[in-house]
Amino acid sequence: MQKTDIAIIGAGTAGMSAAIYAKRAGKDVVMLEGYMPGGQIVVTPEVDNYPALGKVSGYDFAMGLYNQATELGTEMISAEVKKVSRSDGGFLIEYDGGELWAKALIIATGAKNRKLEVKDEEKLTGYGVSYCATCDGAFFRGKTVAVVGGGNTAFEDAEVLASMCSKVYLVHRREGFRAEPEKVAKVKNMPNVEFVLNAKVASLIGGDKVEGVILEDTVTGEKKELKLDGVFVAVGQTPSTEIFEGLVRRDKAGYIVADESCIAGDGVFVAGDCRTKKVRQLVTAAADGSVAALAASEYCSAD
Ligand code: NAP
Repeated sequence: MQKTDIAIIGAGTAGMSAAIYAKRAGKDVVMLEGYMPGGQIVVTPEVDNYPALGKVSGYDFAMGLYNQATELGTEMISAEVKKVSRSDGGFLIEYDGGELWAKALIIATGAKNRKLEVKDEEKLTGYGVSYCATCDGAFFRGKTVAVVGGGNTAFEDAEVLASMCSKVYLVHRREGFRAEPEKVAKVKNMPNVEFVLNAKVASLIGGDKVEGVILEDTVTGEKKELKLDGVFVAVGQTPSTEIFEGLVRRDKAGYIVADESCIAGDGVFVAGDCRTKKVRQLVTAAADGSVAALAASEYCSAD
């Protein structure tokens, strides 16, 4: 069976930053990723809040990290991890197509898109329901769409979609926004964007494809129909941590419990959006990656 010093599960910003730091600390590092490397940032059109970088596309940012991690000698395994358990003073990682043993484990699995939890959402995904404006926006050129949510992602999505769709409704369940005021102001000034506040999606309309939504007023309970060609869901994320149940402690929402030291247990470290913390940003994911990697490297050298 293949053995390594440090296994990193998840190749997003946190995982790849961890790989860079662990390789520079002289460790053997294997990184496992079920999808493409890069994580959530790959589909972000523009990153403009990473210190010293100015404006850069999410894809270029992710590829920069990937190139740096692999050029330093990080081994990548493209496979979904099925199970992780303690074994022989380390960890046995079972993935699609093989097994790996590691002395230390860094969990950097990030988070996945939260769903609206309405009937037919899954059936209509790809047929008018989307979770990625950058990926799917072009299919709705000249059409009418809604973005659901009031965070940074919703406002970035609305901005992207407003540049190609004829009309964009921004549907949010209350009047205040989590998004940065600067992003809100920019979208508010776009002539083809209309805010629909105190509203939630009660149901989707459409058989084979989305034709609209029924909105429910969160104050009065009143319902109304909105005709649409597409619905972009941007209502936050939930952590991808199910497979670590029993190995580490998770909070009620599923985040792995660890403080700024990124230590989640003996030999287990957690970095990025799947860790309990207040601020989930690229820069905090990268910071976690370095902290977790240095702690894991020290742990491996302790014997
Ligand atoms: P978020 O900040 O958690 O916002 C989620 C939004 O969805 C909130 O407005 C929330 O409403 C709403 N919501 C949650 N559940 C809902 C439901 N069931 N139905 C309707 N609405 C619901 O998520 P995000 O925008 O994806 O951002 C995630 C993190 O990444 C944040 O820390 C964000 O700042 C960061 N981010 C940063 C950038 C950037 O800096 N360029 C870009 C994107 C994301 P309430 O407010 O009422 O709870």
